[in-house]
Amino acid sequence: MMIVMKESATDEEIAAVAEKIERAGARAHRSQGARVTVIGAIGDVEQDASVESLGLEGQPGVDRVVPILKPYKLASAQFRHGERTVLDIDGRKVGGDHFALIAGPCTVESREQTLETARAVRDAGATLLRGGAYKPRTSPYAFQGLGQEGLRLLAEAKAETGLPVVTELMDVRDIDAVLEVADVIQIGARNMQNYSLLTEVGRSGRPALLKRGLSAPLDELLMAAEYILKEGNPAVMLCERGIRTFENAYRRVTLDLMAVPILKELSHLPVIVDPSHAAGRRDLVLSLSLAAAAAGADGIIVEVHPAPDEALCDGPQSLPTDTFAEYAAAVERAAALAGKALSAA
Ligand code: PEP
Ligand code: MN
Repeated sequence: MMIVMKESATDEEIAAVAEKIERAGARAHRSQGARVTVIGAIGDVEQDASVESLGLEGQPGVDRVVPILKPYKLASAQFRHGERTVLDIDGRKVGGDHFALIAGPCTVESREQTLETARAVRDAGATLLRGGAYKPRTSPYAFQGLGQEGLRLLAEAKAETGLPVVTELMDVRDIDAVLEVADVIQIGARNMQNYSLLTEVGRSGRPALLKRGLSAPLDELLMAAEYILKEGNPAVMLCERGIRTFENAYRRVTLDLMAVPILKELSHLPVIVDPSHAAGRRDLVLSLSLAAAAAGADGIIVEVHPAPDEALCDGPQSLPTDTFAEYAAAVERAAALAGKALSAA
C-alpha cells in the first residue's frame, strides 16, 4: 500500500512512518516528489495486513493511505496469472468452457419428490443435483428441512441418477453428516460471512458453492472465498443470487448481472447465477437464466419441483419438472452463445 504524506510533513514524521512500516515486516520505499513524499509499503498480503493494522491514517504527517494489492490474494485473477479455475466434480467440469446446470428442489421434502425431480433434471442434461436438507428460513416456524433424513434421500437420488449433489451446510456441527453426501457444499447467502463455517469448509477440502450475501459488496464475497481458499481448498464457486436494492417492483431482490463479468475480471473462480432466489417468481426464471448464460456465467443453480404449488419451500419460484427439459435446452443454447458447452459426466 502507499502512504501519501502531507505537504507539511517533516522529515521526522516521514522517518517515523517508514520505521513503523519496517517494524511490521514490510519494506518502506520512499519516493520524494516536488511537493509530497509517498512511501510505498512493499510486502506480501500478510505484511500488507499488518501495515494496515498500524492505523497509519492517524499518524502525524500522513495525508492518506491507498491500498494497492487486492486484499483477497488467493481469489484474485492475478494469483493465477489470468488462467481460469476449472473444477472437476466427479467428472463434471465447472468453469472455463464448461457450463454447469445445477438443478433440483429447493428443499428435500419426501422420497418421491426428490427422486422424481432428480430423474427429470438428469434426463434434461443437468450437471449436478441441488437440494437442501438443512434450510435457512426467515421464519423459525417455517419448515426447516428434513436434516439427516434429507441427506439420506439425496444420497439415494445420487445413487440412482449418478448426479453429484450440492447441499447446504448451515452449522459446523453438521459437517460430518453433510460431507458423507455432498459433492459440493453450499454456503447460503445468510452465512456468507460466517467465518468459522467458511474455515471448516476450507479444511474439509470439499468443493464449495459460496452464495453472495443479500447486502454484500463483491469484495466481501471475494474475501469470504479467501477464507475457504486460505485453508488449502482451491475448489470454490462464487454465486450471485440477487441483492437487496431500493427497487421494490419485484417480490424479493435484484439480480446483479454485472457481478458476472466483474467477478470474472477480479477472480479466477467460476461464477454461478441463481435465477430462482433472485426472481422469487417462476415466470422470470427463464429470462434471467438466458441473460446470465449470455453474460458469461459458468453455470446456473435453479429450483425445480414436480408440483411447485404444493412445495413446502419456494414453490412460486420453482420450475415444474414437466417443462424442465425445454428450459434446459434454451439455457444450453444461451451458454453456447458465450462459448460454453453444458458439462456432463
Ligand atoms: C437456497 O439455495 O435454497 C437458498 C436458501 O439460497 P440463498 O442462501 O441464496 O437464499
Ligand atoms: Mn430455495
